[in-house]
Order: sequence, then C-alpha cells, then structure tokens
Amino acid sequence: MSTPQRGKLVVGNWKMNGSTTANAALLAALVAGWRARPDRDVALCVPYPYLAQAREALGGSPIAWGAQDVSEHASGAYTGQVSAAMLAEFGCRYVLVGHSERRHGCGETDAIVAAKAAAALDAGLTPVVCVGETLAERDAGQWQVAVTRQVDAVVQRLGADCARTVLAYEPVWAIGTGRTATPEQAQDVHAHLRVQLRGAAAAGVPILYGGSVKAANAGALFAQADVDGGLVGGASLDAAEFLAIAGA
Ligand code: PEP
Repeated sequence: MSTPQRGKLVVGNWKMNGSTTANAALLAALVAGWRARPDRDVALCVPYPYLAQAREALGGSPIAWGAQDVSEHASGAYTGQVSAAMLAEFGCRYVLVGHSERRHGCGETDAIVAAKAAAALDAGLTPVVCVGETLAERDAGQWQVAVTRQVDAVVQRLGADCARTVLAYEPVWAIGTGRTATPEQAQDVHAHLRVQLRGAAAAGVPILYGGSVKAANAGALFAQADVDGGLVGGASLDAAEFLAIAGA
C-alpha cells in the first residue's frame, strides 16, 4: 500500500566530477541555499578524494554526505578499494552500492552488490542500493524479472537488516540520457518493489527514483505514492537545480 505521508530523501551523485575549486563553490551555494525541513533529507555522494572537503563544508549543516561505492571487504590486500569503516571515519551517512555504472561498467554482480550493502551496514552506514532494468529488458517486458532478482539478492544476504537500507530504482535507459521514466512508469516499478520489500518485512524502506531527474520533472515524480525521493546525477552538479529538486 502507498504511504504518501512519508518524508522524502534526495541524494545527489556527483559521479566522477568536481575539482576542489568547483566543489567549494557548489558546496557553499548548497549550504547557503538549503533550509532544514522536517519532511526532507538531503545528501551528496561525492568522489572519495572530496570526502574531507564535503565533511568540512557540510558538517553542522542539514546536508549529509556519502560515497559512491564501497569495498565488500573489511581490510587487507585489496589495492584501490575503500572500506566502509574508512567512509565512516569521514562522517559518511550513505554509500551508493550497485549503481548501474558499476554493475555494467565494472562487472559487479548481484552477489557483490549485496555483500557491499552488508559491509556498509556493518560500519553503520546506510547503503543506497541501486537497481534497474536495461533498455533491452524493458523492451522485452522483463523489468519485473530484472529488479526482482537484484532486490532478492540483497534480501537474501541481509535478512531483517534489509529494513535499514534505502533502495533506488534507476532504469538504466534513463541514467544520463535525458530520458526519464514517466511518473506512472516509476510508480509501477516502485509499487512492485514495495510489495517485494513488504514480503521481506521491510515495507518502510525508502524507494528513490533516479534517471535524469531535473527540477522540471521532480515534482511529478515525487508526487507518486511510492516514490520516496530521488537519486540525482547530472543535475546535482548545479546548485540551483539541485536545490529546486530537493525542495520539490
Ligand atoms: C545517477 O547517476 O544515479 C543518475 C540518476 O544520473 P542522472 O540523474 O544524470 O541520470
């Protein structure tokens, strides 16, 4: 069932963008422009090298920060990887896991994504678990199969702890393409995910929509009963645009 009274969560994903100079201006504009609201949580997931800068700029503000990936391992001989405990040391609240640019660009399997979600929870972080079908899967009428499989891996791995995650539905065909799922398409998938989560005793998990969210379409998407906010890529690099989305 829908829960329209739930507050919204809006998470920015800077992807591999930024410089210390550009970040300083963006972070300052966001801190100056965002007013805390009881019905709204806002966070930014930044590249690892900018976590210290994000902590410095956002600490004490109502905007949380996080990372875009995490190792499934706690420590050891994993050159280039970053553990959840390290992210926690930088004050991260959230970490993205299973973004499609990692599933498809870096070969991350459902099992790896689930292990990363578990590692994040172990360190006290909230994993934002990204799921979504490809264009081929949507065109073949297979979106349910794809997202159900992806969520099921996380449910199987986390059990009751699944309730401590955030889910982000990001149709791969809508990420960075300028093509957005219609509010009705998003609601259909979110309602399906809600039923699946309810079966795992995790019906309260926020389900964000991601895929070319902009100020112009955020209001209609967030008005859907089972859309609990957004995961925002490109538009999170523009302070005015992101603030408008966060307030939508
Ligand atoms: C994303 O990176 O998670 C994303 C949804 O990107 P965009 O908003 O640019 O489509």
